[in-house]
Amino acid sequence: MKEKQSVKELQSYVVNPIVCSVKLDANEGNKDLFKDLVKELGNDFYLNVYPDDNYTDLKKAISDYIGCNVENISVGNGSSELLDLCVKTFVDTNELILSLDPTFSMYSIYAKIVNSRYMETGEGSDFDIDVDEVIESIKKNNPKITIICNPNNPTGTVIKRDKVLEILKSTDEIVIVDEAYMEFGEESVVGEIENYKNLIVVKTLSKAFSMAGIRTGYLLANEELVKTVEKVRPPYNLNSVSAFLATKALEQKDKMLAYVKEVKKEREKVYNALLDMNIKAFPSGANFVFFYSDIKDLEDKLVQEDILIRKFGGKLDNHYRVTIGTKEENNAFIVAMKKIV
Ligand SMILES: *Cc1c(COP(=O)(O)O)cnc(C)c1O
Repeated sequence: MKEKQSVKELQSYVVNPIVCSVKLDANEGNKDLFKDLVKELGNDFYLNVYPDDNYTDLKKAISDYIGCNVENISVGNGSSELLDLCVKTFVDTNELILSLDPTFSMYSIYAKIVNSRYMETGEGSDFDIDVDEVIESIKKNNPKITIICNPNNPTGTVIKRDKVLEILKSTDEIVIVDEAYMEFGEESVVGEIENYKNLIVVKTLSKAFSMAGIRTGYLLANEELVKTVEKVRPPYNLNSVSAFLATKALEQKDKMLAYVKEVKKEREKVYNALLDMNIKAFPSGANFVFFYSDIKDLEDKLVQEDILIRKFGGKLDNHYRVTIGTKEENNAFIVAMKKIV
């Protein structure tokens, strides 16, 4: 039995199996933020029935949080599932998906699975995004989907709202804005879903809400686009336990907002500490800091100190991404870095 050609050529997304006490490799949030919600899964919660496939309660909570209608929402098993669904919905064999250079590696994997073509563009100096080049590229190549990760993973770069809207205006085809980290930034285009026929915004509870374990994400777009994506969505794609916990967390957004405020403060601390060590760190609008260092085996040396960060390879060789953790974790990272430097 042989897999199809596109899968044969695929490299799987590798999750680092190393375990360290200070885990700063995956942009996860504060462990304690919504821990108590598990207790609310009481006696009147039934595991034997399928979830409500309309996800009425969850969509209500999302619509209150975002300020949109429930008809503008589709929910998924992480925003990863929704990105995959969009690719399956809008892109055929050999059609093009365009994204930023560099960006989240999962986009290229979803593209390859459906046998589409994939290209990255718009790399400016110091990982700034050259929006003019992105627009030029869109006009020249007419991609079926353009994916804009804002703030961008792994660089932390933020594209201004006006610039994202310029990209949206440059094409009639779909533009997905992945706002996984936008709670840590200020340039959301979520308020524009009714104004642009081609805009899809994808968001998640994995980062600012610190609920990566429940795998819950959502998609926001005009009603017609939502209906189109819903045709491809499998029934009951989000399990009932996650839907329940996500609903409760969204109803307590103040906890998330306080956490975001703390992360932003800590982010500046980590960023400045790296600069003070003469390490080239890049400004970030997310819950991580991206940096360059030519210290040999830096990742391994940090593991020796019981700290795990994310190392990049290939074109991004010698580049690293450190998640902003608790104050103690960030301090541990800074102390270890000083020691290694
Ligand atoms: C973390 C992340 C997501 C969120 O994925 P989930 O499946 O919702 O956990 C989406 N996009 C980017 C760029 C991310 O870094």
